Amino acid sequence: MKVKKNEPMRNHTTWRIGGPVDLLVQPESVEELQQALQQARASGQPYYVIGGGSNLLVADEGLPGTVIQLGGCLCGLQINGTRVIAEAGVPLPLLARKAAEQNLSGLEFAAGIPGTVGGAVVMNAGAYSSQISNVIRQVVCCDKNGEMVTLDVSDCQFSYRNSRFKRNSDYTVVSVTMELTLGEQQEILDRMQHNTSLRKEKQPVEYPSAGSIFKNPPGDAAGRLVELVGAKGWRQGGAMVSEKHSNFIVNVDSATCTDVLQLIARVKQEVREKTGIILEEEILFLGRENLESAVDSPSILCYNKIDKNIKL
Ligand SMILES: Cc1cc2nc3c(=O)[nH]c(=O)nc-3n(C[C@H](O)[C@H](O)[C@H](O)COP(=O)(O)OP(=O)(O)OC[C@H]3O[C@@H](n4cnc5c(N)ncnc54)[C@H](O)[C@@H]3O)c2cc1C
Repeated sequence: MKVKKNEPMRNHTTWRIGGPVDLLVQPESVEELQQALQQARASGQPYYVIGGGSNLLVADEGLPGTVIQLGGCLCGLQINGTRVIAEAGVPLPLLARKAAEQNLSGLEFAAGIPGTVGGAVVMNAGAYSSQISNVIRQVVCCDKNGEMVTLDVSDCQFSYRNSRFKRNSDYTVVSVTMELTLGEQQEILDRMQHNTSLRKEKQPVEYPSAGSIFKNPPGDAAGRLVELVGAKGWRQGGAMVSEKHSNFIVNVDSATCTDVLQLIARVKQEVREKTGIILEEEILFLGRENLESAVDSPSILCYNKIDKNIKL
């Protein structure tokens, strides 16, 4: 198990933002993950499980306690017929590619979504009218007592960018069983290629970001509302509302967490004033305040009421 002290979280988030965490732990097996969770709990300090850090905004002042990072480890993958079992650390785009190599359809939407299988389950990641919960059958988790628990998809409470794992910190996702369908390999690859080309064309993939900032309100698109109020191109320090895709905030010049939070607050306020719609963040904020208030229970501290922390 790799352990790094005082490790800058900016090295572990796609936004390249975030101060140091006391301990960053990278378990290399399920047993090491169980051990890491046990040690983190016993320490009495806060702890947090992350995957690829592609949906996270981490505070500039850093984090107390432990971050257990599964991206880059726990990468086991088994494919038997149409059944796929992936460990939590498998990169989602790699999973989609491996499935396609076996003529398996159902994960084409995931080709360009960064992060891990574990993070995708927690977020119920999706695109182009598909989402990962459509193909999930079971999720194996490590509960707060270190026991392995298997949940059926019907117990995972999946909805739009949401799951019971996001709301309930007691479970760490360890592996996922998926059922895909047999298809024509070239057609599957073509669909994946089409999706990744669309991303390159429409998203600012050349800059660090965390994907979409806001969830789409029912029947509308968050990007349309942000553009409508003229926020495209707004800048705060090193952070900017992307000119290419208005629901992205990009790190154009050593942006800080505070830059991003202030920009989010400005955009939300403008959208609210001009349209009456209250945008809800899709990204998750990880900062000292919410970590310390959750020492007693959660390992996963999802927190998306970002504007609460911001004084305009
Ligand atoms: C350029 C870009 C494009 C994107 N496009 C999309 C898109 O099209 N659709 C989409 O849905 N998302 C998109 N995203 C957002 C992001 O990639 C997804 O939300 C992704 O699924 C997050 O996975 P992750 O491993 O990086 O999770 P992280 O960001 O590391 O964590 C996200 C949440 O999951 C929890 N978590 C992670 N792993 C585990 C685990 N094993 N057990 C328990 N909890 C865990 C964390 O605690 C946190 O609460 C995009 C991001 C970027 C940067």
